[in-house]
Amino acid sequence: MKMKKQSSKERPLVEQTKHAAGQYGGFSFGGVQPDGVQIVNPLEPGTLFPNGAKAAVLLTFDVEGNYGNGTGSVQQEISNYELICSRLRQNGIPATFNIVAKMVEDHGVKFVEQMLASGSEIAPHGYVHDLNKYYGGDKVYAGHYGVPENQMQINQGLQVFCERFPDEVSGYRLPYGHFNEFSYNAIESGNLKWASHVGIDDFINPSNGYGTQPFQIRMGNKLYNLVEIPLDTQTFDWPIWIACPKANKLFVDAVGAYCESRNIAFVRTPAGGALIWKRRILEAVSNDRVFTLLCHPINLTLENESWGNPVEQFLFPTIDLLGELQRSKKLWVCTCQQMADFYRSINNL
Ligand SMILES: [Zn+2]
Repeated sequence: MKMKKQSSKERPLVEQTKHAAGQYGGFSFGGVQPDGVQIVNPLEPGTLFPNGAKAAVLLTFDVEGNYGNGTGSVQQEISNYELICSRLRQNGIPATFNIVAKMVEDHGVKFVEQMLASGSEIAPHGYVHDLNKYYGGDKVYAGHYGVPENQMQINQGLQVFCERFPDEVSGYRLPYGHFNEFSYNAIESGNLKWASHVGIDDFINPSNGYGTQPFQIRMGNKLYNLVEIPLDTQTFDWPIWIACPKANKLFVDAVGAYCESRNIAFVRTPAGGALIWKRRILEAVSNDRVFTLLCHPINLTLENESWGNPVEQFLFPTIDLLGELQRSKKLWVCTCQQMADFYRSINNL
């Protein structure tokens, strides 16, 4: 299926209201910072990880087909998982797949079984991706809703996986990384270990970044019993080769600003993206840091005359590089659950 880049009619990803309900939270994307998030006990740079490396990289995927704003082919996405998981297995590295629960209800469990067979972790990415599809109206994000809607999004998301894969789920990533305190209350009450919503850095408003290192999250007076794993909300796949530079200018500008600061070319193709990710990974190694990558596999199904197969041009070079660095013990490539367990053990949580 030939698809062009989206037109300027694309809906801006970050909309005006941070959190229409609650006192805290919002987005960590597009120059915006959520309200009231405090960092407690961030993991020290240079920490020695279980395999002897002093740096760690987490490869995370938001598995969402067309349940969000993705425009690729959900069938192609699902059939790609066999190849993606076999590449992970060949390299001996795991990933974390955050999956829209409704997608499992609608499309079956085979692709999820492939992920687990690769040694990877699964976690919910919402029950539905966009809450307006459930409640109607314009409100899309969890942080726009109150207690019952957040409980529904978390509990129904968990239920789909717990019924099919008992004891596999230990964390949660909400759609768009958009949350409020009601979201975190619901995640904590689900007896989970980790959440992953806030951005590592912000190349538009540098003071908005939360740093690369996992921490324990506090909002207002409440310290949550959850390990927050910050993620790359700047140079993730979508702004590199898909997002419209007009409708989602801040996102595309952020990637441009990263490339400019590192003196590398910003080429808006999957192959160009692989070079940006390579730089991110090598920086984690040389700075003894944790870094959490984010890819949306629906975007790997987009064909365009300017590029070849994004699975081969973007994802495979990344997986191969991570495998090589893991084998040479320069890196610990781990899942969110492994990172959360490690963090909890050294902080006695
Ligand atoms: Zn998503």
